[in-house]
Amino acid sequence: MSTILTHIAIADGKIKRSSLEVLSHCKQLAEQGGHSVEAVVIDANASSFVEGIQKYGASKVYVVEDPIFKNHMNTPLLKALSNVMETANPSVFAFASTEGTKDILGALAANQDAAVLPDVSSFELTEGGVKAKRPVMAAKIISNTEAKGDKVIVSVRSGSYDLVENETSAEVVKVDFSMDEGELKATLKEIISASGDTIDLNEAEAIVAAGRGVKDEEGQKLISELAEVLNAGIGASRALTEAGVYDPSLQIGQTGKVVSPQLYIAVGISGAIQHVAGMANSKVIVAINKDADAPIFEIADYGLVGDLYKVLPPFIEELKKI
Ligand code: FAD
Repeated sequence: MSTILTHIAIADGKIKRSSLEVLSHCKQLAEQGGHSVEAVVIDANASSFVEGIQKYGASKVYVVEDPIFKNHMNTPLLKALSNVMETANPSVFAFASTEGTKDILGALAANQDAAVLPDVSSFELTEGGVKAKRPVMAAKIISNTEAKGDKVIVSVRSGSYDLVENETSAEVVKVDFSMDEGELKATLKEIISASGDTIDLNEAEAIVAAGRGVKDEEGQKLISELAEVLNAGIGASRALTEAGVYDPSLQIGQTGKVVSPQLYIAVGISGAIQHVAGMANSKVIVAINKDADAPIFEIADYGLVGDLYKVLPPFIEELKKI
């Protein structure tokens, strides 16, 4: 029996949904293969998240708690992850693919002499390794990759798996942590939040995305109203981030964010390949466009051909009634 370890990422005082999706999948893999599934949470208030983790079936939760983990810093995080990896000795260490993960995954793999499969959309265990699918070339191609070895690190795109609750009474293991000032190679000076209070697009269950068809403040107001009624995050095509209408952090696509929410509503977006690369894995895609030949309709589950300025007001009113 081997161990599958899952990293639980914390952001803004909450467990990242994408980490619990990965834990849910690891639990299923563990049940199928007779393995154990464990989790590690590293945060200034790590113990407060144990209950939330137990709901998703980890049999053991490693807790690394220290004020240094209040904000993401790669040196202490790498040290803590390496310590836990050496203690838990997992055959697979699975992460949600987040900005923070991207910052440390390569270093952790080098430090632990492990194979690494980053940013995959699914993975399975094989004899002596892990095989995974990874969208590449603007999601036009799915590459099948396999890593062999007794230690494989994998990071999984958000929205790749459903949450499955599976309550267990996990053993809680507190891991001591200390770090001298001198060990810190860099210190954090300031965090500047790019998009204020907007919903994190990587965690959002629904996204309303605006394109060049949204021409003015009236259109932007409709986008905001639709997002509010759906409790959705707001995204944008590059046409509107480059025009300065929406913050660059909200851009979706090849050179923006890659998202896979349950619901993606593309409003006034043509569906250029570079945009589609960032949202094609969304579970349900709705397109609103006045051009019936717009390429976005080729990947949409539901399409509405019409002028967004005429279509959205009654659509929003109907949604408010639900
Ligand atoms: P357009 O292509 O101009 O489409 C606007 C759409 O709105 C049209 O289909 C039109 O019919 C519709 N419309 C107009 N008025 C209305 C109305 N009143 N009601 C309803 N519909 C209306 N783009 C990205 O989005 N993300 C990226 O990450 C990205 N990366 C890129 C990287 C590279 C290297 C390159 C070369 C390009 C990249 N692009 C990216 C740009 C991309 O090629 C497109 O130019 C861009 O996605 C177009 O944005 P759009 O769909 O909003 O605008």
